[in-house]
Amino acid sequence: MNSGKLLLFNTLSREKEEFAPIQPNEVRMYTCGPTVYDYVHIGNLRSYVFADVLRRTLEYLGYKVKQVMNITDIGHLSSDADSGEDKMTKGLLREGKELNLKNMRELAEFYTEKFKGDIKKINIKMPEGPYFASDYVKEDIELLKKLEKKDYTYRTSDGIYFETSKMPDYGVLWGGKRDIDEGQARVLENPEKKNPKDFALWKFNPNIGFESPWGKGFPGWHIECSAMGIKFLGEQFDIHTGGIDLIPTHHTNEIAQSESATGKKPFVKFWMHSEFVDIRGARMAKSAGNFFKLSDLIGKGISPLTYRFWLLMASYRTKVNLNMEALEGAEAALKRLQGLYLALGENPPAGGGKVRAEYRAKFQSYLFDDLDTPRALTVLWELIKDEKISKADKKVTILDFDKVLGLGFADLKEEKISEAVKKLAQEREEARQKKDFKKSDELRVKINSLGYEVKDSADGPKISRM
Ligand code: AMP
Ligand code: ZN
Repeated sequence: MNSGKLLLFNTLSREKEEFAPIQPNEVRMYTCGPTVYDYVHIGNLRSYVFADVLRRTLEYLGYKVKQVMNITDIGHLSSDADSGEDKMTKGLLREGKELNLKNMRELAEFYTEKFKGDIKKINIKMPEGPYFASDYVKEDIELLKKLEKKDYTYRTSDGIYFETSKMPDYGVLWGGKRDIDEGQARVLENPEKKNPKDFALWKFNPNIGFESPWGKGFPGWHIECSAMGIKFLGEQFDIHTGGIDLIPTHHTNEIAQSESATGKKPFVKFWMHSEFVDIRGARMAKSAGNFFKLSDLIGKGISPLTYRFWLLMASYRTKVNLNMEALEGAEAALKRLQGLYLALGENPPAGGGKVRAEYRAKFQSYLFDDLDTPRALTVLWELIKDEKISKADKKVTILDFDKVLGLGFADLKEEKISEAVKKLAQEREEARQKKDFKKSDELRVKINSLGYEVKDSADGPKISRM
């Protein structure tokens, strides 16, 4: 186990706290997954890149990490609270499909596969699962029964609700003092609710849904994550992640249900939230239609790893504004880093090489300060440009940092240069030796037209992609 002290910003206390897991050496972590009624956008992906860097940091420290993710494939209404259209229903209508559970599942599986493809491309380690909420309705019902037994619930004409006034510290995740925040104010007034903050545990639907002791319908979005968190990680676990929009409703209500049902506090020790990706000053959102998918970026010549790299240039707690020029700059910078890395020689380096302690200490001091990746990246640049460090040591140290950064250095390979290009380069060199510069120039132009360039170095000519 590495002895580094890890500080993480806990939304619960609004402070950086020293991280220690509940059980020594093992971290249990839950990441709220996507609602799969459509493709995920690159804003959504930020929350998963953040969770991935967190998980990798914990693993880097030597912890065994059990990271679980859910897939929301039922019960998420468009207002994030308890009103509006069901998102999955919206997806089915959009695609002209009949409204039934089988089609809902098929739609979910389709977009989950696309999501998994994005996760892979952006080099996120796949969390355990991801588990479909619709496979755990039995667990939702069990949790709801517990709440009912403890008298936290009441019935209205459209569902079963949680009575928030029965929980004295409801809303601790918002800093405790605030009453009704914007997120909650958005909850449309339902005259049957005892309190505007009360939220649905089960919503009735006579046409489509799951059978339950209260009637046919769907579990609430919040109870799904409570039930799956408890099922896979236990009644209390270490870390829960998501985007900041989940604080006022989804995560606040997860705490309320879980702690009321189990009687154990806290449900989760560290609540961690990543900021938004904005576009032209407004939050990127599927509903607003102002979003990019990862495939859109690829189409614009921005690789998924460049997007990851660009995200790491900002703290996960800082809002970022999508900017194509900045992304193009990041693409060029990452290519340069990759080129400098490849110039360090074979993989693994001959003659070993060792992680340089002074660089490692600096890298960790930033990383362990609430995942300060922008400053950690400056250490990578500093290292790669340090001429006093041997190539082998550099390489091994970069690979060590990349366990956390996940920029894919270990998989980088020197591009295979075709025999035809090699032959042209050799002919050019021969012409140059004979001082036939006209011919050597012609050959250079020919090589360039094939997308390569030749640079003359002290060790002879070097061929690379233009
Ligand atoms: P959803 O699919 O709506 O359940 O969202 C999946 C994740 O993406 C959640 O953790 C959200 O908080 C997060 N998220 C949604 N929009 C954005 C955005 N524009 N920037 C960053 N994260 C976002
Ligand atoms: Zn969730």
